[in-house]
Order: sequence, then structure tokens, then C-alpha cells
Amino acid sequence: MDQMIQSSGFGCYACGAQAIGQCKNDGGYYCAKHGARGYCQKCIEQARAYTPGGVSLVVWALYGTAAFIVLTMCFGGLLLGGLIGAPMAAAAENSQTGSLLALVGKSLGLILAIGFVAVYTLVVGVPLFFIGRALNNGATWARTLIVIVSYLLLLLVPVGTLIGSVILYLLNQQPTQAWFEMRSIT
Ligand SMILES: [Zn+2]
Ligand SMILES: [Zn+2]
Repeated sequence: MDQMIQSSGFGCYACGAQAIGQCKNDGGYYCAKHGARGYCQKCIEQARAYTPGGVSLVVWALYGTAAFIVLTMCFGGLLLGGLIGAPMAAAAENSQTGSLLALVGKSLGLILAIGFVAVYTLVVGVPLFFIGRALNNGATWARTLIVIVSYLLLLLVPVGTLIGSVILYLLNQQPTQAWFEMRSIT
């Protein structure tokens, strides 16, 4: 197609110079300076200025999941620490040498909560945040990663199937795919 455009003498939408391609988004012809890889400069710049609603939704779902897991681990730590720590503190107080053990038992809930939050923030929270931010910026690797995870989610009937298909629907919209393509052009 590009060969046809080059020999036909179509002019660039911006400067009128010999066009090398036609924009997939608005059909405008572009020269080597005002477009690349199937899109004109105007559309590429427009794509940089916004994030499609579907992509934003997936990004916020990622942030929300990260926050939910970290919070759940905070409460889980408190609960587990209370369940183990309370009998431990009670037993330690009845012995002669158990004052330190009793103190650990009493504060075990807090210790576990802080530990769980620290670990899950590093292992789940930070990675999900970076993936979300990359997706928001149109990174193709982030989209590919989410699409692969969504296909795996489909296998977890019924909740995973529902969530996976919603994400795949949102990320596979034609304008959204075009947005990712345009964002990947530098
Ligand atoms: Zn031009
Ligand atoms: Zn265009």
C-alpha cells in the first residue's frame, strides 16, 4: 500500500511533501517527518494526551487490587497475631522468665501486621503499581502481560472468568488497540 502511495504523488497532510503512508486513524497522508508506522503525527500526539476509559478502568482495578491485598494482609496479621500471641502472652506471664516472651505475645498482632504489610507491599503492591502505571502510559509489554493474566483468569470459573473477560473486552477494543500502537511510536 505504501508503494502505491509513494508512486501516486499524494501530499502530506501537514506539509504537502511526498507522502509515505496513510494514517489508519483518520486516513490522512503523511510524509516521513509527519507520521510513522501507520499513523500521522497529529493522531500520535492526540494519543499521548489521553488514556482510553477502558484502560483507566483496568489501571484502577490494578491499584485497587494492590491496596486490597495489602490491607487484607494487615488485618490478617493482626488477627493471626492475636490468635497466637494472646495464649502465648498468657502462658509466658505464668512462668518466671517469660516477661520478654509475654511482651512479644502481646504485640505479636502488630508485629505480624507490619511484617505482612511490608512483604506484600514489596511483592504485590509495588509490582502492581508499576504495571498499572506502565499500562496507563500505553506500554505494550504491560498490555501483553495483563492480556496473558486475563486468559489465565478465564480458567477460574466463575469470578475469574467474569473479571478476565471484562478486562479482555476493555483492552481489545479497536480504538484502544490503536491507542497502544500510537503510544508505542516515538
Ligand atoms: Zn509532512
Ligand atoms: Zn491521523
